[in-house]
Amino acid sequence: MSAADARSQELAAALAAVRQRIERACLAAGRAPEAVALVVVTKTYPAADVLRLARLGVRDVGENRDQDAAAKALAVDAGLGAPTVADEPALRWHFVGQLQRNKAASVARYAHVVHSVDRAALVQALDRGAQDAGRRLDVLLQVDLDEDPAVHAGRGGARPEQLTALADQVAATAGLRLRGVMAVAPRGQDPRPAFERLAALAGRVRTAHPGATWVSAGMSADLEDAVTCGATHLRVGSAVLGSRPPLG
Ligand SMILES: *Cc1c(COP(=O)(O)O)cnc(C)c1O
Repeated sequence: MSAADARSQELAAALAAVRQRIERACLAAGRAPEAVALVVVTKTYPAADVLRLARLGVRDVGENRDQDAAAKALAVDAGLGAPTVADEPALRWHFVGQLQRNKAASVARYAHVVHSVDRAALVQALDRGAQDAGRRLDVLLQVDLDEDPAVHAGRGGARPEQLTALADQVAATAGLRLRGVMAVAPRGQDPRPAFERLAALAGRVRTAHPGATWVSAGMSADLEDAVTCGATHLRVGSAVLGSRPPLG
């Protein structure tokens, strides 16, 4: 596989287009493009694509299923060789999907950031997993932004009124580092009001925990709105890798 293979060229072009969208949105919002990190969500795509992306300069990749992510992280790290600087991984793995408690120990072994922490039992399980692995994980609290909880059911996320207690719980652990908040825009609605609510909630968490400065919001379809509303991390999949099969 060389940087010149057809798939690499395709990924390079898509990546450039996404980076241009981010730059334009930053310019329009009066924000520095360096203040917005791009996490390329590689779920359902093979480790070979992750390696291609790494060679194209991508440093942050996202996955949503432990079984796939664990295997890919192993394959990719072997393909990239040992990181040159021990403290600086060649790739940072972001876990962005709903996480079962019994998968927490596995995720804690390869993930650098978990975006989807939304309940006390998961905080406990991840903390234990991280400490057992001798690691410290960056954690974002996922918020359910749907006004009607019944609509949201099954997609994960803490209710806004639970955030403060969860933030305090994460901050009190030895294995986790509270970094901020994350949300997925409610389906079929204008994402802007939801992202504005997220920004307000992020501010509230930051008041008690000044280090929690990250806001993970925005995907392929709504990254401009997320940048406008202050997102620091965009999770972009299909706009870089192509559309996934319906069951992905
Ligand atoms: C798949 C996924 C994304 C990326 O979605 P695209 O629409 O492909 O950009 C972002 N966040 C989460 C939580 C996801 O599961």
